[in-house]
Amino acid sequence: MLRHHSALRCADGLRWPARGIPGSERCAHAESPGSLVGVSVDADGAPAYRLALQTREQHIRREKATSNICTAQVLLAVLAAMYASYHGAEGLTGIARRVASHASGLAAQLRGGGVEVVHDEFFDTVLARVPDRAAEVVAAAHERSVNLHLVDTDHVSISCDEATTDAHVASVLAAFGIAAEGSPGDGPLSIPKELGRTSEFLQHEAFTKYRTETAMMRYLRRLSDKDLALDRTMIPLGSCTMKLNAAAEMEAITWPEFAGLHPFAPADQTEGIRALISDLERWLCAVTGYDAVTLQPNAGSQGEYAGLLAIRHYHLSRGDDHRDTCLIPSSAHGTNAASAVMAGMRVEVVACRPNGDVDLDDLRAKIADHAERLAAIMITYPSTHGVYEHEIEDICGAVHDAGGQVYIDGANLNALVGLARPGKFGGDVSHLNLHKTFCIPHGGGGPGVGPIGVRSHLTPFLPGHPAVPELGGGGPVSAAPYGSASILPITWAYIKLMGARGLRQASLTAIASANYIARRLDEYFPVLYTGANGMVAHECILDLRQLTKDTGVTVDDVAKRLADYGFHAPTMSFPVAGTLMVEPTESEDLSEIDEFIDAMVSIRGEIDRVGAGEWAVDDNPLRGAPHTAECLVGEWDHPYSREIAVYPLGKGRAKVWPAVRRIDGAHGDRNLVCSCPPLEAYSS
Ligand SMILES: *Cc1c(COP(=O)(O)O)cnc(C)c1O
Repeated sequence: MLRHHSALRCADGLRWPARGIPGSERCAHAESPGSLVGVSVDADGAPAYRLALQTREQHIRREKATSNICTAQVLLAVLAAMYASYHGAEGLTGIARRVASHASGLAAQLRGGGVEVVHDEFFDTVLARVPDRAAEVVAAAHERSVNLHLVDTDHVSISCDEATTDAHVASVLAAFGIAAEGSPGDGPLSIPKELGRTSEFLQHEAFTKYRTETAMMRYLRRLSDKDLALDRTMIPLGSCTMKLNAAAEMEAITWPEFAGLHPFAPADQTEGIRALISDLERWLCAVTGYDAVTLQPNAGSQGEYAGLLAIRHYHLSRGDDHRDTCLIPSSAHGTNAASAVMAGMRVEVVACRPNGDVDLDDLRAKIADHAERLAAIMITYPSTHGVYEHEIEDICGAVHDAGGQVYIDGANLNALVGLARPGKFGGDVSHLNLHKTFCIPHGGGGPGVGPIGVRSHLTPFLPGHPAVPELGGGGPVSAAPYGSASILPITWAYIKLMGARGLRQASLTAIASANYIARRLDEYFPVLYTGANGMVAHECILDLRQLTKDTGVTVDDVAKRLADYGFHAPTMSFPVAGTLMVEPTESEDLSEIDEFIDAMVSIRGEIDRVGAGEWAVDDNPLRGAPHTAECLVGEWDHPYSREIAVYPLGKGRAKVWPAVRRIDGAHGDRNLVCSCPPLEAYSS
């Protein structure tokens, strides 16, 4: 049973009282799938939290797909939530007061020293008017190790935060030529009275209970115990590449020299990270075969957007205003079509053959139909079906011959690094997911990095940034010039540690592992697509549709049952509904892979018992899964034993107890609870 409450901030949207749950509020955000937590109930009636509206990222609902959100901001949300949890309403109010009082104390002393302060009312930011002296003041602050924001020749802007001290304020005043007096943080605030908050907030137990480090530590421990993460099991999520994030790769991001940098810090303070960025750009050019790489996009999907904008601007620069049609195979990742639409293109879907490959005849027909308007094709290689399509060069050639550009979705680079380069086999532009192939944690973590590589004719159309004019290029696609720069040391360390041979070895190992799983499981769960040689790339799709038809057991049942065996589920129903897509990556050793296979084979045995009528389709270990520790006590009136429920393969693999039983998904989607009700509210 879940005993801890995550809180959800209702940023906007309608609120109305939730029926039957006293004191709760709900908000209507139909627009944020995967980023809202809804309170549902599990099979035993216990409260259970789940991501509401579990569509894939970018709101694309491809059939019944549920998978991770690759580029989540969850880690950041968790940090913010824990900050609020530890400090609570009083703590946060105190912090805000201190920030605001430093700002207003600074303003008062500036005024006292004869400097004009532009606004009377503000929270943390003071805008000072110093005609023709702004650059001088900023330079004087710089000498005192303080970066101020140069707004224009006459204005300097100063922000205070919770780390600001009286000494900092004194340094800033000194930069204006004013000697600080007393403690600037003691004066009245400059916040308009009518904006002061009077309502209570953060009253939930999660924000009132954990105020000592000991209590906080245990709270975090209990929460993390509910997580079936990479530290306990392989996460075989196909199309997601959940690989090891090695400690040595992660270490440098904790160093203040990287972690404490402001994205707009002056160039003379960022030489180190920029050297690292240019190393990475060079290495990624070598890996992909492209002429230039930008690290600005924060996600694969944002890379797609940046890459398609580059294509669009390239056509426009040549007077090809009419080229606005993007061909996308039906096998594509859901983000592709969404990005094309965002980049102002029309999407035309290209059919796939029964074997999963792009249908070249349909492609040629679509090219002929749209020749004049053809802007690009977006193609994933190896395909989202986990197969190397041997006609990739013909596909790229056909599009180029018709004047279109080729976007190769490189999120699946784990099957290519060191083996083939998209910039050399037909791509004009690709994005990579550093948070998949290059070891940045993701999938409930994040943030991500989705760099794009381009051939030289697209280089002028890469994103730039007003804060760094040297970057050249067009407008930015992300708020910071180098995107999620603070996590780039992870990828830098990975490439540096692996070297060219190591990277190639990693790809070969990932491919060998996927093929091993495909071969061993094929007789139990047929592998849906293979290439011409009967092989898969770095992942394989297990087809359960016939089994479901014959026995009633669904992919959901298998995915949930894997939790009883101590495994994270593979990707469900993507890219094909009714299937599971398995990607082992090179990080898993043979014994973990064998244990996963043993679990899947055992599950197939359970399905057969349902098929044979031994267990009813609505009462068997699969439909009952997952089973919690609470299942061991109280009544038990199922046709299978408790031992089979919780230890299906006997002792051996370390048992991870699922925190909840099967969750009622529809109930959770209808019940987007903003301020969580106390547990007692459920017991009635
Ligand atoms: C993961 C993935 C994407 C999207 O990447 P995000 O970082 O989640 O936006 C795009 N295409 C493919 C093939 C992917 O696997």
